[in-house]
Amino acid sequence: MQKICLLGATGSIGQSTLDVLARHPERFLLQAVSANHSVDRMLEICRKHRPRIAVMADSEAAARLADALAGEDIEIRSGEQALVDIAADPEVDTVMAAIVGAVGLMPTLAAVRAGKRVLLANKEALVMAGQLFMNAVRDSGAELLPIDSEHNAIFQCLPNGQTRGLKQRGVSRIWLTGSGGPFREWPLNRFDAITPEQAIAHPNWSMGPKISVDSATMMNKGLELIEACWLFGLPESEIEILLHPQSIIHSMVAYNDGSVLAQLGNPDMRTPIAHALGYPDRIESGVEPLDPVTVSQLNFEAADENRFPCLRLARAAIAEGGTRPAILNAANEIAVDAFLNGRIAFTRIPQLIEDCMQHIESHPGDSLEQILADDRAARERVRRRIAEDLA
Ligand code: NDP
Ligand code: MG
Repeated sequence: MQKICLLGATGSIGQSTLDVLARHPERFLLQAVSANHSVDRMLEICRKHRPRIAVMADSEAAARLADALAGEDIEIRSGEQALVDIAADPEVDTVMAAIVGAVGLMPTLAAVRAGKRVLLANKEALVMAGQLFMNAVRDSGAELLPIDSEHNAIFQCLPNGQTRGLKQRGVSRIWLTGSGGPFREWPLNRFDAITPEQAIAHPNWSMGPKISVDSATMMNKGLELIEACWLFGLPESEIEILLHPQSIIHSMVAYNDGSVLAQLGNPDMRTPIAHALGYPDRIESGVEPLDPVTVSQLNFEAADENRFPCLRLARAAIAEGGTRPAILNAANEIAVDAFLNGRIAFTRIPQLIEDCMQHIESHPGDSLEQILADDRAARERVRRRIAEDLA
């Protein structure tokens, strides 16, 4: 029995993970789950999946959940430390890191430091603290398996799951594919008027609101570029972003003998989730089998940095290194939140990020305190700029 801690159980990845786990009750035991404030959904999860521990980061939500589950054999905890504790719990073998945003960093890092098998969906943690994170993986012997569909695809196309020394293993290039989101062909002169509803309506994937907006600005692909650099130990110059509107190929690895390996499948996160949960075995995921005849066409085009300036900003951030990606990520989180709340225009998102990148000094990325300080500085600057915009 693999004992699982599921961080972010009420989210999109969380729900897909629960679906896969429920298909294999003989293999997995749900030790702990977490959410922030979605009490009703958490209550449903507790009733259906019977975890031993449920954490609500928000204390008021935890109190409401505890009331609703009074007398049942599920321990309710609350607060940020509780997230760290369940991630590092000696009872737990595998941690699914599916909290959205920078708040996922501390519990995910705790799981790594405790030497767990870590299924990494939360890309923001690696973007913020890549060096620190990968050093912790090396030192603790944790096993890191990527859940992001592109990185999972790349992992599947590498020789025997090796993620280091790829040059020596003949890897010449990685193609990170992305659909281009809902605005790949949208007239540029109408970008200003894009609404949150339009931005979160992704053509191929159903995801949480933040990553859906990131997909629309293509910052998602930018964050994934940074994520790939850390996961596979490659410089950004060896990773190319390629638009592939059907989202059937999830990324490709080119070798120096001319071979290109790709992983294909219907766009459903249960595939990478099942791959990582079962690894190295293959387990059933519930995903509809791919029918190549129905798909019929696979198209590719170059990514346009003029249409999607976030691609250029993310590439510049990882090329500079240090805390620059943490600054980019923090600025993006605040800008996306403001866009979702109707406070800024879609086109203001990259402008606010660029403003932060130009005005906040970056530092070496090997200290958690420095990363968190620069993250805070970026958040404060973007909040101030938005307040000025609205004044
Ligand atoms: P959702 O917004 O659907 O879910 C986010 C989860 O995180 C929820 O369980 C939420 O709880 C929890 N959460 C949010 N804020 C906090 C907080 N302050 N403290 C504790 N928990 C919190 O996100 P997704 O599932 O879409 O994405 C999760 C992560 O996976 C992201 O980092 C994303 O980039 C990555 N990812 C997602 C993919 C997808 O297909 N969805 C694909 C690839 C990567 P609550 O419900 O209570 O708010
Ligand atoms: Mg992805």
